[in-house]
Amino acid sequence: MKDPGRDKPIATMAGASVKVAVRVRPFNARESSRQAKCVIQMQGNTTCITNPKLPKDGTKCFAFDYSYWSHTSEEDPHFASQRRVYQDIGEEMLLHAFEGYNVCVLAYGQTGAGKSYTMMGRQEAGQQGIIPQLCEDLFARIGREGSPDLTFSVEVSYMEIYCERVRDLLNPKSRGGLRVREHPLMGPYVQDLSRLAVTSFEDIADLMDSGNKARTVAATNMNETSSRSHAVFTIVFTQRRHDRLTDLHTEKVSRISLVDLAGSERADASGAKGTRLKEGANINKSLTTLGKVISTLAEAQNSKKKKPDFIPYRDSVLTWLLKESLGGNSRTAMIAALSPADINYEETLSTLRYADRTKQIRCHAVINEDPNARLIRELRQEVTRLRELLCAQGLAHALAPPPRRRERGRRPPPRPPPAAPPLNGGPEPLPPLGPAEAMERLQETEKIIAELNETWEEKLRRTEALRLEREALLAEMGVALREDGGTVGVFSPKKTPHLVNLNEDPLMSECLLYHIKDGVTR
Ligand code: ADP
Ligand code: MG
Repeated sequence: MKDPGRDKPIATMAGASVKVAVRVRPFNARESSRQAKCVIQMQGNTTCITNPKLPKDGTKCFAFDYSYWSHTSEEDPHFASQRRVYQDIGEEMLLHAFEGYNVCVLAYGQTGAGKSYTMMGRQEAGQQGIIPQLCEDLFARIGREGSPDLTFSVEVSYMEIYCERVRDLLNPKSRGGLRVREHPLMGPYVQDLSRLAVTSFEDIADLMDSGNKARTVAATNMNETSSRSHAVFTIVFTQRRHDRLTDLHTEKVSRISLVDLAGSERADASGAKGTRLKEGANINKSLTTLGKVISTLAEAQNSKKKKPDFIPYRDSVLTWLLKESLGGNSRTAMIAALSPADINYEETLSTLRYADRTKQIRCHAVINEDPNARLIRELRQEVTRLRELLCAQGLAHALAPPPRRRERGRRPPPRPPPAAPPLNGGPEPLPPLGPAEAMERLQETEKIIAELNETWEEKLRRTEALRLEREALLAEMGVALREDGGTVGVFSPKKTPHLVNLNEDPLMSECLLYHIKDGVTR
């Protein structure tokens, strides 16, 4: 067995390739009671798995950037705690975000293997996952480094992809089915997904919490479980620097995508039949496509071909939205969660193989300097072009008056356009557009400009309005408000009889509370 040693990077271009970690959890109660055997061994960065049916010569070994032994407890010197996982992966990703790169962390694995524990974790001290630790660190660093000449803004969105449909977890009015669109300048994006302004860790923790509750509410209504959906938590982090000498303003924007993927088990392994199985095929479309995208990218790396094969990003919503994070403009890490138990041998081996392929992908990350100023300029140019096109087609009367240019809050007036190379190699030449298409594209582009131009104060107001709506809806669903009315959450009422939901998924358990009113309840 090759042991590359803990401190020697496996990939020579470590910075550019996808960081891959695997993590094995403790036995759960059922596995312990059935005297399950542990099929995973780890040494340094290497993880080995033993086929329980061929214990003699059935061992396969894989080397990763990190192999986390979380099967035992703190007393074990080899034990990898939540803190340790965050320090290795989360801290590095946060550093890249401050440098101005897009970053992405994906958790992959079979249901129950520890994805949500690794990403979100539990509320108790020392049990928090990567997402809350990263958010806390983000605001701590903003607090230390912020100054009149260096300001930061943080916006958050949280969505769920279930059966190829996108649901906004932060907007109670979103019933699922937001449109995923592609704009020639913006690339793929989710239309109308709320992006909420936050000013503290508490704000973000509140949003995370209500997003997780919205997942429960939706899942309870539709009788699904969270194991079948992908949860994507995105932080858009903007740094604005003012240089006193030249009086120039620069801006860096990075997108931090934190993804808790759906369970990777194949539909047939969970005993699904009939409609469930059909549903399963659709549910896993995003995951299957993710597998194909990863294999294709890995093969392209190996064959060193000039032009990579066709990469099927567009075949699923997840891969389409994560296009930049997978082999594109992003620093990416994947954590594959492993079950230690012999009964899960086949699934665990397939997770290890998947992680092994991911290791070979390289991303080409670039710093996102001043993207907004340039983007707005190019979007305006496109609006002008589309308006001229529509006028040329004799449709001038159908056009709304051009939106008034407005200065953005806290922003310098736009500088004369520097001769910078256009974003993504420049706007593609417009394909011949019919009047209806041109009109639609024009409206879409004007909407994007309006969103980009919204001031920070407007964003905060919108965030607050949505929060009130969310709370009203949750109250209606049975999620209680604390007496002060300000904080949402499940607060067991001391005097009122009530019911609390239980779910095998700890993230979804005890999220809903039903008060039993005076009188007869059926
Ligand atoms: P998944 O999201 O992959 O379906 P979970 O993260 O919900 O799985 O994990 C299943 C159960 O195992 C949960 O009760 C979780 O708290 C527990 N668990 C997972 N990983 C660990 C770990 N490293 N240490 C302690 N408990 C864990
Ligand atoms: Mg989970």
